[in-house]
Amino acid sequence: MLLSNNESLSAFIKEQALALGFELVGIIPATYLHEEAEKLQTWLGNGYHAGMDWMERYQSLRTNPAELLHNCQSVVMVGINYFPGWEAGQGEQIKIARYAVGRDYHKLIRRRLGKLMKAIQQEAPEITGRAFVDSAPLLEKALAVRAGLGWQGKHSLLINPKLGSWLFVGELLLTAPLVYDEPLPANSLAESVSFCGNCTACIEACPTKAIVAPAVVDAGKCIAYWTIEADPDHALPDTLSPQAFEGWVFGCDTCQEVCPWNAKFSQLTKEPAFLPSALLQTPRVETLSQLTEATFEKTFAGSALRRSGNEKLQQNLERVSGVASS
Ligand code: SF4
Ligand code: SF4
Repeated sequence: MLLSNNESLSAFIKEQALALGFELVGIIPATYLHEEAEKLQTWLGNGYHAGMDWMERYQSLRTNPAELLHNCQSVVMVGINYFPGWEAGQGEQIKIARYAVGRDYHKLIRRRLGKLMKAIQQEAPEITGRAFVDSAPLLEKALAVRAGLGWQGKHSLLINPKLGSWLFVGELLLTAPLVYDEPLPANSLAESVSFCGNCTACIEACPTKAIVAPAVVDAGKCIAYWTIEADPDHALPDTLSPQAFEGWVFGCDTCQEVCPWNAKFSQLTKEPAFLPSALLQTPRVETLSQLTEATFEKTFAGSALRRSGNEKLQQNLERVSGVASS
């Protein structure tokens, strides 16, 4: 039977999303992200995007999901817990951000959003949509906050009060008007850090003091930027020493590791695909520094770690091994 009204269709979409393995789902209207656009402008104006010049482009798309799909009316935001339940950098191991130790989440989430779209079209064939996972210039965290999936912590990442911050998000843009969710109750957009309270653990723990204000990260100081995004030819500024990287060679989880919401609520992912591959269970400089271009491609095909490329990985490994041997 085809679904006849917005209410039943919205309920159906949420039920299907949960059945597909998403743990969080919220729906919002596809409206202009006015406040977030202003914050983005300020962040860019301060140069906090460092060498990520692409952040300056497509600003209108970033803040207006309706521009990405003709007649877009709604955005279905989904979230999934990826916590692999494993300690980064034990003993002599080097550290890799937990989100990158398993299979590439982009493909898994996009495939599931595709299945969600198919299920929707079986009930309402006139609806069209587009799925994105970190693949369009959209402010995903802002959309997730608006959809009630969590709030933006002082470390700038999304935190859900029942799952913590080890979350991937994705979105499905749809041409149907639906029933909409709200941001979390105590989390009006004007007070977007209210659930952090007086805590400043992430700000204090950040090895490079990259969190320059609540929910504002200066990428030029952030280890995640330097180990993934920065061009290998881009030299470290004098203000950043290799020691400050504390063994991170791909991303950095320090601000999430110290978050009390994670200490209390994080739970092992239900997705085997997000668990560490054998090689990344005990990552070591000696093993990873042997990789050639070809073996890197082969080893990390289907892994989020492939994104940095072997040249970048080798540079990061040299940086931390230089510290270890000095
Ligand atoms: S990812 Fe690491 S370097 Fe970046 S803000 Fe968090 S703790 Fe600081
Ligand atoms: S460590 Fe504290 S301040 Fe930082 S995000 Fe978590 S709760 Fe908020």
